[in-house]
Amino acid sequence: MTSPEFGRLSRRTLFGVGAGAVVASGVLGSLGSSAAAATDEQPAQVPKEGMFAVTLGTGAGPAIRGPRIGISTAVVVDGNIYLIDAGLGMVRQATDAGLTMDRLRALFITHLHSDHISEVPALLLYNWGPGVKGIVEPVRVLGPGPARLPHGAEVHIPPPTGGTERFVRDLLETYAYDINLRVHDEGRTPLDDLVQAEDIEIPKSARADVDRNPAPEMDPFQIYQDDHVRVTATLNNHPPVFPSFAFRFDSRYGSVVISGDTTEHPNVVRLATEADILIHEAINADFYKKQPNIPPAQLEHILDSHTDLEGVGRVARDAGVGHLVLSHLGGIAGDADAAVTREIFDPVTVAVDGQVFPVAG
Ligand SMILES: [Zn+2]
Repeated sequence: MTSPEFGRLSRRTLFGVGAGAVVASGVLGSLGSSAAAATDEQPAQVPKEGMFAVTLGTGAGPAIRGPRIGISTAVVVDGNIYLIDAGLGMVRQATDAGLTMDRLRALFITHLHSDHISEVPALLLYNWGPGVKGIVEPVRVLGPGPARLPHGAEVHIPPPTGGTERFVRDLLETYAYDINLRVHDEGRTPLDDLVQAEDIEIPKSARADVDRNPAPEMDPFQIYQDDHVRVTATLNNHPPVFPSFAFRFDSRYGSVVISGDTTEHPNVVRLATEADILIHEAINADFYKKQPNIPPAQLEHILDSHTDLEGVGRVARDAGVGHLVLSHLGGIAGDADAAVTREIFDPVTVAVDGQVFPVAG
């Protein structure tokens, strides 16, 4: 476990043209500030050999509160791309990072909150076929299966929680006109032949239950394997969402763990044990408490279903990871905000959009 160095960042992939940040020794300026622009105009490039984590989008929640792209992470192994979640703006961001989806092998969805899946339609439809260096071989989409809503919740729109398979099927049906037309008119391979959606099956031995025990302590279980990576999952704790997952990617180069949205939880510690890089969500609780417009129920959800800046330090310390990267950031601008985390665990980096983290196991 060595401390990864940071990849190059482009002005565009950071904060949009015209804004920018100081990038030096991994210390970044505050978001939204008028700090000096990054000097590199070229997109961040991910080498063809090796294992890398790319924080394509680092923003939290279905809200545009600043320049950050919606949550999405890529794990790249010898050029093969594995995406974790697809938040708003990630399609453009992946292109800017030089990641073309003809190398996409699988998309992993941590949970079905909209900020994690809102750009799945564009990911598939804007990366369809060789003409756009897009998907040419079947891509697997793995995510939560159907589950009922928590006790007492009303079903306004049925089905209450259809799961990943149903989400993708409905999405393709919604775009049926475009898909049918382009297959006929442009000779494209039917998109439904190129996408294989699967609901992740939770081991029965976990005895997980949406109301009584959404995140029982459990051993990680394997959900995917190919010639390049093995992916394991565990239930994390993101009430009232169920199921909600964290994922671990192991390759011959090392390991990357993505926490998903979660409170500080022993399942994530177990999954991340001695991982080279742990990419964990984090919120600045004080930021939200000071927001005048957030309704009390929404504030309660934020505080009860995420991890604060001290908690994330404890998770990294207890798991013994090599490097802690904060992403899915709520009320956190840059590295300076992670001082309280750094007192518990170091090294820690507050990620920016498009940042590349080499994995050196
Ligand atoms: Zn969420």
